[in-house]
Amino acid sequence: MEYYREKFKRHVKDSNFTKLEKSSQKFLEEKAYMYRLSFQDIKQLIDISIDLEMWDEESIKKIWKDNQNKKKTLLHVKNMYEDIKTKPKKYIKFKSTAKKHKFNFTTFEKDKLSLGTCPVASPKTRCCNLMTLDAVESCGFDCSYCSIQSFYNENNIGFDKNFIKNIKNIKLDANKKYHIGTGQSSDSLMWGNKHDILKSLFEFARENTNIILELKTKSDNISYLLENEVPKNILCTWSVNTQTIIKNEEHLSATLEQRVASARKLANKGVLVGFHFHPIIVYEDYLKEYKELVTLLLKNFKTKEVALVSLGTLTFIKPVIKKLRSRNFKSKVLQMPMVNAGDKQSYPLHVKEEMFKEIYKAFSPWHKDVYFYMCMEDESLWRKVFGYEYSSNNQFEEFMINSYINKIN
Ligand code: SF4
Repeated sequence: MEYYREKFKRHVKDSNFTKLEKSSQKFLEEKAYMYRLSFQDIKQLIDISIDLEMWDEESIKKIWKDNQNKKKTLLHVKNMYEDIKTKPKKYIKFKSTAKKHKFNFTTFEKDKLSLGTCPVASPKTRCCNLMTLDAVESCGFDCSYCSIQSFYNENNIGFDKNFIKNIKNIKLDANKKYHIGTGQSSDSLMWGNKHDILKSLFEFARENTNIILELKTKSDNISYLLENEVPKNILCTWSVNTQTIIKNEEHLSATLEQRVASARKLANKGVLVGFHFHPIIVYEDYLKEYKELVTLLLKNFKTKEVALVSLGTLTFIKPVIKKLRSRNFKSKVLQMPMVNAGDKQSYPLHVKEEMFKEIYKAFSPWHKDVYFYMCMEDESLWRKVFGYEYSSNNQFEEFMINSYINKIN
């Protein structure tokens, strides 16, 4: 017994064991002794217990059923877990644990600034070749599915002191057209014009008419854009979601109403806007709520005001899953059926096909006059959802940019 006790301690060292509720820790330890569980068994049971607590579902204790046969006991737990994981989740009784962050604003001095490639794009998916400009490092919102938290230390918001100088030195090819976004390393608008970031980006857009600069946000911080002339080649896009998802998973961000009202104000000013339905998340009756969101947009905007609508869903890289499990918070984003999608984990294709088809169909009145695309999706979905497909990412990029240019003009 003493020998196994020592072994158990070694097994749980460096795991999330101590992040579990005390009662689950005690329960797992008892069962580990009882069944002489192996390192792999314990590791799996810790992940299962962490997930169940994070999802606010029944605890490991509740789904456990002792059987004299260890294999059968573990199989029962795994089956129960898979069942909870794959059935559409319910947010009705779920209580999220959003806390106000305390940010540390830090500054650093970069020697130069260059355009990057979209950090989540993958050669295995159909992608738009978006170029990125990291104006701010890290985000002040706390969306539970976000991968920015695995790239940066989330409480430190970093600003480049040399941004104004560096952006002027970016060399662009005058014969090329560029689609550049600043919303990949942070939220594009939540910091407003802090450190003159927006001012410099506006100048950059004015001086380089061959670029389309997309400012993507979940905020309603549009005062700088209302008070200043916005260059025509700047698109302001909102990542939108149902209020159920905003409330439970997009902590600290603007409400749906605030996002739509902000987009409306900028559209009134003649700024082209766009909407990213990303990530679309499956939960009970999710399609009904997403369709209501589509109706809200159809009612509030004219096609000439809207450059794009993108569709995308939850996709996780392993470090983000690991990070989420270590965070000790409540979220249901990982409560979903997951299969390999490229190098990532995402919904099975048939689930995606249904979600994208249904939402795209709800947008029928806009099909001809707004540019629709799927972000980071398997190329086999394109024909099924839109009725057409691109032969390459370059062709996708070309059609997208030309469509935006036509709208701008
Ligand atoms: S489709 Fe999405 S993931 Fe791919 S490059 Fe464009 S923005 Fe990035």
